Amino acid sequence: PTKELQALDAAHHMHPFTEDAALAKKGARIITRGKGVFLTDSEGNEILDGMAGLWCVNLGYGRKELAEVAARQMEELCYYNTFFQTSHVPAIALAAKIAELAPGDLNHVFYAGSGSEANDTNIRLVRRYWDVKGKPEKNIIISRKNAYHGSTMGGASLGGMSGMHAQGGLPIPNIVHINQPHWYAEGGDATPEEFGLARARELEAKIEELGADRVAAFIGEPIQGAGGVIIPPATYWPEIQRICDKHGILLIADEVITGFGRTGNWFGSQTMGIKPHIMTIAKGLSSGYAPIGGSIICDEVFNTIAGSGDDFNHGYTYCGHPVAAAVALRNLELLEEEKVLDHVRNVAHPYLMERWQALSDHPLVGEAKLAGLMGSIALTPNKETRAKFASDAGTVGYITRERCFANNLVMRHVGDRMIISPPLVITPSEIDILIERATKSLDEAYAKIRS
Ligand code: PLP
Repeated sequence: PTKELQALDAAHHMHPFTEDAALAKKGARIITRGKGVFLTDSEGNEILDGMAGLWCVNLGYGRKELAEVAARQMEELCYYNTFFQTSHVPAIALAAKIAELAPGDLNHVFYAGSGSEANDTNIRLVRRYWDVKGKPEKNIIISRKNAYHGSTMGGASLGGMSGMHAQGGLPIPNIVHINQPHWYAEGGDATPEEFGLARARELEAKIEELGADRVAAFIGEPIQGAGGVIIPPATYWPEIQRICDKHGILLIADEVITGFGRTGNWFGSQTMGIKPHIMTIAKGLSSGYAPIGGSIICDEVFNTIAGSGDDFNHGYTYCGHPVAAAVALRNLELLEEEKVLDHVRNVAHPYLMERWQALSDHPLVGEAKLAGLMGSIALTPNKETRAKFASDAGTVGYITRERCFANNLVMRHVGDRMIISPPLVITPSEIDILIERATKSLDEAYAKIRS
């Protein structure tokens, strides 16, 4: 029974990113099953998952093919490591597949169990790279405010979430943050194009302030996800690329959300027209069916570290875990066989775009943005000035999210920005349900804040 499960949950289960005492009073919503884009809870409600779990279940829930691959691999070889000059078939086959899909000379995969771990790896990789090049002092990584790169000490330090830095004395040394390209909230009177350039040039100013001989890398999500699905102005990434190239700074694209079809291409870097030296991957790599992540590394960085004459002293027990790797490989094959990226580009994105943008006619909505199948709407009391609500940041967003959940739609809020990232297999009729439930929830939230 739901009540008993909620009591056990409250008694023994500490939740991520949650005020547990408040949750204990309310009781968690307990999810029991998933099929396609729908979840079922312990009360039998059918919920449309507009977030694909945590941006990861790209292929949708309940795919038998992936369960079968996992079971077969567990029987054949449940675990072995890739340390100490050993390897195994799933890790090899998946690395080769990722290298085939990744653009340019991103040909080498270092596995991790998650996006956070992969970003920790990236800190070690770029510092090791410059060390081997004889420039150990080139060890500062520049990131952005409001970025999310994970929850480990390294990942949270690379991230620019002030709430995370405040708890635990972060960031760790030699990680610095510049402003994000969030035109709607911070662009003032500038056009998006002017603002995008100005924000990119903060990178150049920071490199000049620190000295290019001290800066190892810049890291960014091609489209900021957990920060509120911030799609940067078109001028932003080309300028970042130019600045990294000019100053000899490695570019790391955190593709944990934007990878594997989310923006309609295999990688968000392709959508944004950038050529990173390293990509962080996780989530959609296995459509969330197994925990796996990694770094895709270009020839130059790999060859330098591999040829250093010394071990790269880094690794996780579950690097390239055979079951997770086998599941991820089958997931990538299914994305290809079922032409899921074509579906995103030609069917789901255009259909959702039309309906999503129409939401900006709602009295509560200032702008509606969508790249591939990741989108956001800004809630505002004044569409003209793009003003923020006077109440605590996030209150109206929180109310709207609560109404969505009550109306059996998972949509997240980041402050007063509502975000979606549905499974990539979502159909037009399911998009209709999503929009219908979102509109009802916006109406209810609007009525509530006016009452
Ligand atoms: N990087 C980005 C861009 C993410 O969105 C996330 C998770 O949401 C991470 C890294 C961390 O990944 P994980 O939660 O798998 O550690």
